[in-house]
Amino acid sequence: MTAVEVDGKAVIFDIGFEMEEVIAADEDVSDMTTNQALDTGAIPRDAQLFDNDVNVVGIVIGHGHLDHVGAIPKLAGSYSAPIVCTPYTAEVVEMQIDDDRKNVSNEIVRVSKGETFDFGQGFELEFVDVNHSIPQTVLSILDTPDGKAVYGNDMKIDRNPVEEKTTNIERLEEIGDEGVKTMIPGTTRVGEDGRTRSEQAVAVELEDVLKSCYQAGGAVFISTFSSQIARLNTILEANGGKRKVAFLGRSLKEYAHAAEQLDLIDLSQVEVASYYDECEDVMRRVDNNPEEYLVVATGHQGEPGAQLDKIASGQYPFDFEKGDHMIFSSHVIPTPPTEANRYQLDKKLKSQGVRIYEDIHTSGHARKEDHREFIKLLRPENIVPSHGGIHQLGDYVELAREEGYELNKDVFISSNMATLELD
Ligand SMILES: [Zn+2]
Repeated sequence: MTAVEVDGKAVIFDIGFEMEEVIAADEDVSDMTTNQALDTGAIPRDAQLFDNDVNVVGIVIGHGHLDHVGAIPKLAGSYSAPIVCTPYTAEVVEMQIDDDRKNVSNEIVRVSKGETFDFGQGFELEFVDVNHSIPQTVLSILDTPDGKAVYGNDMKIDRNPVEEKTTNIERLEEIGDEGVKTMIPGTTRVGEDGRTRSEQAVAVELEDVLKSCYQAGGAVFISTFSSQIARLNTILEANGGKRKVAFLGRSLKEYAHAAEQLDLIDLSQVEVASYYDECEDVMRRVDNNPEEYLVVATGHQGEPGAQLDKIASGQYPFDFEKGDHMIFSSHVIPTPPTEANRYQLDKKLKSQGVRIYEDIHTSGHARKEDHREFIKLLRPENIVPSHGGIHQLGDYVELAREEGYELNKDVFISSNMATLELD
């Protein structure tokens, strides 16, 4: 969560979860009061926005990942400002608010990619096409009385995407010409050299793997991030109607149905199951006819209680046969609890003779050379790297220095709760 303020008026960008704290919390954050959630560190501490008597005129949400929308039910209601986002992000935001207490009465304004929205009082917003790993992600350009602020959390440049357009490079160059006062980029993978692989490259690999699994025979399972609708479409396309497809798990159901509402995925040939009885029924049929089904299931991080964990632990009337296949179209999030969970899941699968295919995946985050391109296109006067630990922020500063910026002169390391004042 970041606020950009000019003359006492501010626009907030994203109101997300600190995912590690959400996972580490003893109970579901949505069941906590706002104060309890604040104590865990799972949601942003926004007290200084009240202390400083700032008038928040708008809340802008760049995309629907939980680390960008998760804390909306807890915090957005205390601002009398509209929430502005793309239609798919709005679906996810509504989903979050629905899941929690009904204390968020903010108007939700749907603005499509490439369109603008006027907050009044000299603040105008433009949504520019940008690639990430969930539908309708945007780079937010906020024109203020003091110049433009560019907020890019999260983003990458994919010259071969499978669905949406490539990051709008021409428009970014124009915005660079118009002048950018400050840029606030995410930093997740800036420490990795080179460029992030394209989604098309993953599609080719996924099709190869799936084809080989079908030729070898046996049951085939696949798991990916539920909000990565482009990847789900790639899976459906790679399957090409050869097997019946079942989606198993609550988050898959929610994100896929949200996408279906906006015609972003066709689920007419997909069986979607999330309640235990429904999943049990699907798995009984898969057990009887393993080569008739492709099962897409939640739980690629080995989360206890997710569908893959249930399947691998024998909680359904299904037994693996030696030579069945498990495809992970994902990467393991490198935190100790997640790595431990995935280790346990892999062990269970391997002990039952399942063949595992790892990392058929690409990240939604820019690497170093993609970030350099954003800097060169936008040529911001100031840069405030964000959304990363001190290592990522430091790596970004190193990149900015290569591009002629100087620490504490025009590139700054900020921190949670800090205020940075630009003259
Ligand atoms: Zn994201």
